[in-house]
Amino acid sequence: MEIAPGVYTISIGQGAFTGVFPPNVYLVAGEHPVLLDSGYEADAPTRLGKLRELGLGVGRILLSHPHVDHIGGAGPIGQATGARICIHRDDAAEAGDIAEALEHGQVISTGNTDLEVVHTPGHTPGHMCLLLRPQGFLFSGDHVLGLGTTVITPPRGDMGRYMASLENLLTYPFQSILPGHGPMVQDGHSKVAELLQHRREREAQVLSCLERGHNLIADMVKDIYDELDPRLMGLAELQVKAHLAKLQTEGRISVQEGAYHLE
Ligand SMILES: [Zn+2]
Repeated sequence: MEIAPGVYTISIGQGAFTGVFPPNVYLVAGEHPVLLDSGYEADAPTRLGKLRELGLGVGRILLSHPHVDHIGGAGPIGQATGARICIHRDDAAEAGDIAEALEHGQVISTGNTDLEVVHTPGHTPGHMCLLLRPQGFLFSGDHVLGLGTTVITPPRGDMGRYMASLENLLTYPFQSILPGHGPMVQDGHSKVAELLQHRREREAQVLSCLERGHNLIADMVKDIYDELDPRLMGLAELQVKAHLAKLQTEGRISVQEGAYHLE
């Protein structure tokens, strides 16, 4: 489907994904077309079929980060199309066969238009978003999702860097966000501001727990998420841990035998 002139979403439905929102793959057309993320390896043949149907080649595959639902298809799609596979240099070691390691601020030309690398560490150390200035589009990978919140799992995931990356994104000119999962976000800046606010509120809740003597992670999770679906308990615990790791790095709290304390 063409979402704007020369910008396509290469959707294949649910594919190999078992969650709610399968990974999105986009293509920006031009003399050297750019594929943004590549979905699962198992879905690569279907995705290649879609590209052929649309009459689209691929010159480069830009990977937002090296998680399997984003990079799995890169090998087979790269092989079939001759595309060069690129990822931010801070994630290159995790990504297997990479032709090019990219840096913050680097500009990739499709021949028709330019995509700019915006390094957004947090979900992974080398996570990157791609900015398409003329259209006001930001391809956000897993940094900003169409719905829901990004999972930050230390040690590769870093809440402090994630929040700083969200703040940094607000300095960039874009209208809409094309996320790695879920629907397109029309008002991109409001969405980023909302996510940042959400994380700041969580951090305040964690600090408030410590002030009230809830020093163990299990107590904090119970206090913060009092009506949580038990299936999401593991994720909630991860998020609390990510905030605690940030506060510890900042020297605002300390931990002793699993109990956290304000400094
Ligand atoms: Zn991911």
